[in-house]
Amino acid sequence: MSTLFTYLEDFASLFFPKTCCACGHSLVKNEELICTSCRYNLPYTEFHLLDNNMLQMHLAGRFKFEFSIACLYYYKQSKVQNLIHNFKYKNKPELGVLLGTMYADHIKYFIEAHPVDLIMPVPLHTKKLRQRGYNQSAYFAQGLSEGLGIPADALSLKRVVDTDSQTSMSRFDRSENMKEAFKVENPSLLKGRHIMLVDDVVTTGSTLEGCALALLDIEGVKISVAAAAMSAG
Ligand SMILES: [Zn+2]
Repeated sequence: MSTLFTYLEDFASLFFPKTCCACGHSLVKNEELICTSCRYNLPYTEFHLLDNNMLQMHLAGRFKFEFSIACLYYYKQSKVQNLIHNFKYKNKPELGVLLGTMYADHIKYFIEAHPVDLIMPVPLHTKKLRQRGYNQSAYFAQGLSEGLGIPADALSLKRVVDTDSQTSMSRFDRSENMKEAFKVENPSLLKGRHIMLVDDVVTTGSTLEGCALALLDIEGVKISVAAAAMSAG
């Protein structure tokens, strides 16, 4: 790297300092997107080390899954909320990739013991994709895929109904509708696969439920869940 470039970069950072996407403090040299302190002190759930973790309990009985895990606890007005907000709405898809690779480091041995064939992000409806410019979950899936060496498939599962207007419906109605909101392309290619579904923040879980129910119609498919964060209050 040329000295001139480094010099210019340092000079630019005097006027446009890069800040941590979680705590907002200025980043120092060699820090990218998340400062070192946040990287070590974020509220990691370690769900993969717990039997009957909070996400498992939340999804139990709604669809059949092998394991369900999440990287971080999501609280309102917290660093994780800042992170997720940056990741979803502030045109920082690279933050999703970083979170994915960070999480891959945490769960590497767990995944070796519980292998999956494919990592699949929860899809966005094309209308939403156009508004936002990118599917945040696909970037988280990409980071996981790179970190774990497992292929990601962001094309087979499509969201055919924009379900945002359904927030006032009861959970049962919504779950039933949620399955209809997703469609699998070329389902025969997914036969017998263990698919790890990937989402950004799990709140009600009905989106994951819709995706899982649509995929579980395929012969021999097994589902697991890995989210970037789990809403915890
Ligand atoms: Zn920070």
